[in-house]
Amino acid sequence: MGSPRLDEQMILNDITNKVLPAPLLRVVRLIGREASNAGIDVYLVGGIVRDMLLGRKNLDLDIVVEGNALGFGHELKSVFGGTLVEHKRFGTASLFISRPGSAGRIDIAAARREKYEKPAALPAVEFAQLKDDLYRRDFTINAMAVKIEPGGLGALIDMFGGRDDLKKGFIRALHDRSFIDDPTRIFRAVRFEQRFGFKIELRTGYLIRDAASRGMVRLTEAQRIREELILICREEKPEKAVLRMRDLHELVFIHKDLSFSGTLGRMFAVSRSLVKWYGVFIKSPAGIEVWIINFLIMIDSLGVKETREVTDKFVFSNDDRNKILSFKENRDNVRRHLERDGKMLPSEVCGVLRPLSDEVILSIMARSRPGVLRERCRKYLRSYRDIKLKVTGDDLIKLGLPRGPRYREILKKALSAKLDGKLPGKADELRYLEKNVTQNTP
Ligand code: ATP
Repeated sequence: MGSPRLDEQMILNDITNKVLPAPLLRVVRLIGREASNAGIDVYLVGGIVRDMLLGRKNLDLDIVVEGNALGFGHELKSVFGGTLVEHKRFGTASLFISRPGSAGRIDIAAARREKYEKPAALPAVEFAQLKDDLYRRDFTINAMAVKIEPGGLGALIDMFGGRDDLKKGFIRALHDRSFIDDPTRIFRAVRFEQRFGFKIELRTGYLIRDAASRGMVRLTEAQRIREELILICREEKPEKAVLRMRDLHELVFIHKDLSFSGTLGRMFAVSRSLVKWYGVFIKSPAGIEVWIINFLIMIDSLGVKETREVTDKFVFSNDDRNKILSFKENRDNVRRHLERDGKMLPSEVCGVLRPLSDEVILSIMARSRPGVLRERCRKYLRSYRDIKLKVTGDDLIKLGLPRGPRYREILKKALSAKLDGKLPGKADELRYLEKNVTQNTP
């Protein structure tokens, strides 16, 4: 796919009609009406403006208010209903609406200026005009706004040449201190560059290398870097950004021993097709965290110990950490078991795979050649794990078994027998329980 290009002939409203679905456009118009009633200026800002100009769909309504954002949030809630979540500390709010065709989220912030008192630390924030708000942003292409009028969208506000950079395909920082103030932008630059097929502009590239060589990333709160890494792993083709990070010597900020060879690109491709398969045959990929699968490829060169250092350093949530480590700890064992040729009972496959999350199973599949292991994993995900007993603990009560750990034991054995096709109907299951209860009862 080539780089997206702007169509000079389009006026903004035409673009808007193409990019914003009609119900969302109605929402925008209503926001404009409310702003006009309240006598305040409200703007659409950031990624959505960039994407409108590129003709890419973006359903995140990010608005900036020159005035009281929380108050305006309440007014929008009275129009749209939904749930308003206020972030009083930042003077921002998110309205979650669920109108037919336009379920989604509107993020409302007051225009603000940021003062970075220390490099790489979170800035002090004060309320300001739109221009200050745009100046605090990461790149020119993300620092454009469009005024929201009662009739729709007004003129494009482009104070830093964002539109020109979109046309030329440049990722350009707004000022020379940008990466010192906020080194997470180093990762953002790569992500946007690779997503759009752009180039990091020459001086911006120099500023990135300068901030990196001065150790700015290490001064940054690790959780903020983690969020950027997750965003990279959520990209459609994360390998492009990862390769670029390698060339810019950024992988060292994840772990000093991390390396990334081009052959991992193949692993990303295989895992994309597996995720697609999963979406068609198992359930929506929204049910799994695809970024974890990609992150595991990103850190493929690390062993268990180094991976633990990474999960600790970046303070992953327990859930994410467990999945990441579970892959590293179990993959060899799973492969040893499931790559074995010859017949294998479904109960044995379940015994190996049941403790693992779907992300981990897909990650193991992505690293194996087409063959028995993948086939066994596929069967497990598609059918084995959905096989349930018709009998329950109640049936054991009826058989007079005293309550205790034997309930679990017997039901587990029964499930294995069922998985292996030995108990086709409920009557067979009941007979099996009966036999086990009487056999083992003193
Ligand atoms: P995406 O398409 O990936 O969602 P986005 O541009 O909407 O991209 P977000 O991370 O949602 O990205 O941020 C929204 C906007 O906030 C950006 O467009 C940018 O203007 C601003 N922004 C986000 N992070 C930073 C940052 N670290 N420094 C400066 N501005 C930022």
